[in-house]
Amino acid sequence: MTTKNYQRLLVTAALPYANGPVHIGHLAGCYLPADIYVRYQKAQKRDVQFVCGSDEHGVPITIRAMKEGITPQEVVDKYHALIKESFAQMGIAFDIFSRTSNPVHHETAAAFFKKLYNEGLFEEKETEQYFDETTQTFLADRYITGTCPVCGSLSAYGDQCEKCGTSLSPEQLIHPRSTLSDAIPVKKKTKHWYFPLQNYEPWLKEWIIEGHKEWKNNVYGQCKSWLDNGLQPRAMTRDSNWGVKVPLPDAAGKVLYVWFDAPIGYISATKELTPQWKDYWCKEDTKLVHFIGKDNIVFHCIIFPAMLKAHGNFVLPDNVPANEFLNIEGEKVSTSRNWAVWVHEYVKDFPEQQDVLRYVLCANAPETKDNDFTWKDFQDRNNSELVAIFGNFVNRTFVLMHKLCNGKVPQLHNVHLDETDHALIADIQKAKTKVEENLEQYKFRDALFEVIDLSRKGNQYLQKKEPWKKAGNVAEDIISQQLIDNCLHLSLQLTANLAILINPFLPHTAGKMLHMMKVVEKMLEWQNAGSLNLLRVGYSLRAPQLLFRKIEDEEIAAQVQKLQTQSKPLNNTAAMETTAPEYKPLKPEIVYDDFAKLDFRVGTIVAAEKVVKADKLLQLTIDMGFETRTIVSGIAEHFTPEAIVGKQVTVVANLAPRKMRGIESNGMILMAEDSKGKLHFIHPEDVTENGSEVR
Ligand SMILES: [Zn+2]
Repeated sequence: MTTKNYQRLLVTAALPYANGPVHIGHLAGCYLPADIYVRYQKAQKRDVQFVCGSDEHGVPITIRAMKEGITPQEVVDKYHALIKESFAQMGIAFDIFSRTSNPVHHETAAAFFKKLYNEGLFEEKETEQYFDETTQTFLADRYITGTCPVCGSLSAYGDQCEKCGTSLSPEQLIHPRSTLSDAIPVKKKTKHWYFPLQNYEPWLKEWIIEGHKEWKNNVYGQCKSWLDNGLQPRAMTRDSNWGVKVPLPDAAGKVLYVWFDAPIGYISATKELTPQWKDYWCKEDTKLVHFIGKDNIVFHCIIFPAMLKAHGNFVLPDNVPANEFLNIEGEKVSTSRNWAVWVHEYVKDFPEQQDVLRYVLCANAPETKDNDFTWKDFQDRNNSELVAIFGNFVNRTFVLMHKLCNGKVPQLHNVHLDETDHALIADIQKAKTKVEENLEQYKFRDALFEVIDLSRKGNQYLQKKEPWKKAGNVAEDIISQQLIDNCLHLSLQLTANLAILINPFLPHTAGKMLHMMKVVEKMLEWQNAGSLNLLRVGYSLRAPQLLFRKIEDEEIAAQVQKLQTQSKPLNNTAAMETTAPEYKPLKPEIVYDDFAKLDFRVGTIVAAEKVVKADKLLQLTIDMGFETRTIVSGIAEHFTPEAIVGKQVTVVANLAPRKMRGIESNGMILMAEDSKGKLHFIHPEDVTENGSEVR
């Protein structure tokens, strides 16, 4: 546990954006670890609330509404319902799943803003922004398209070019147009309220860098790099009609920035959940934990805490255990390409198999680095871990108990306990602490590994004891029966322990186990773990029920096939070939003197070889007439060394030397690159004396 003595816990999971369904990357990123943590804390009988809800404001929702010809409210209603259902189906058991379009949230977020405003904590700034005169709206980044200044794509957005990935500001776009009306936007003055984050920098440094060294490395490192780079004021309002209205008289047509209002959604949801909400938000002995994905670290570790600090009435997060990303079959999840495994489709394709997905996503969770989900791994983990280890142990125990002990919990005969029995007892008693320590430190994979390991030990125990071999002698040999009893008594107590330990991870499975053991849910309380008296002697138990089933190759092949067919290709080459080449815009004008600084010379390639461990590089020896020099050139993917020896080339001869892969490169050779990316040498039409100047 943390050093502080907490009385209650408030656990939040990132508000999913109500602009589309949730995929398994979302689950692995924050909802599953948060749910495991909360289920464990509830089993510990701690006072804990688990809040979440959908984030229903922001530009992408209004754009989606416009494209589909419906209202933003209709967009969020549709996805809020779908997201909520997906979570419920997967057993993500929030105490409340609210939404930021609820009135209580609008009131809470507006009051938060108003308090900061009244205390003079915002800076008012007037800036010029693009405005669409046809629709009379200021255009946020995503409302503007134009030509990308970097790659020439005609459909770059005001914040990013999706073709080349460059992040842009609206001013950088060439020929900007409004996505609402296609009109050419004009610049217009607009006023916004900025939160001076830089004023909180010294405090944030002390609070995180000094005070929270225990945070996960990926989180701590990202915070440190933000703080090292220096914080800037951030606009906390936007020109839009969709969102929480700025609660000021001169702010018509302005709403709170979605990243100002969304985290306040945790507070609003708690208000909705319980009249005691202030205990969770305002008392210092509350432990607040935010589960998020790595893309939200700055908002939850820097901006929201600074807002809470400025407000002054609320507790700060104790930890923000963010996960990295989960890729799928080796590629980044992309909702626009439909490269994703959607949760609502998984539950249809694999009915009653929620725990398999929970298991695989936890066992393979991107806790410290990006990880990869593959359907093959999904199948392997199910078949060789859940079926062959955990499920197998529980099933064997129940089958043997019915066959050898009349379906009742047999007695334990202490006099016959041997070393193997004592070792198993010790393993059962130790498991609780091991799982618990990992869970308290947000190490969910390791915690799950300990549970599976305990079931593996159960299998080894049965294998060693072989109670089925002793069964032949029962009539004559009382001792044989007592040995059988001991083995199955301990195996059954272990099964009950496994139900307690697996419950936070695989609650549906724990439920099935309770049913087989005919015990009530109370048995799952964490304090019972480690006990060897969970099932009463003589108590009759139900027939075994398979906890997991084998997943067949065809099911996996179908999923891989589905992923391939539903997704758009990474590079839309077909489309590229049919469209005219896109020309890069010209670089800024230069004067003659700039040009005159360049010294171009003709040279001949006299030798060429591949650079070791660099797929793109060739090391060229060039006869320049007045000297011979080495140039490293990135053309190895276009030409073989043999094909270019003897060619004349144009060399930028006065470029400062540069080391590439440890080789000093003295100059550059000029190449033309066509729209398909093919390279062509630039050389004199007739063979010319080496060293000739090019002007
Ligand atoms: Zn671009």
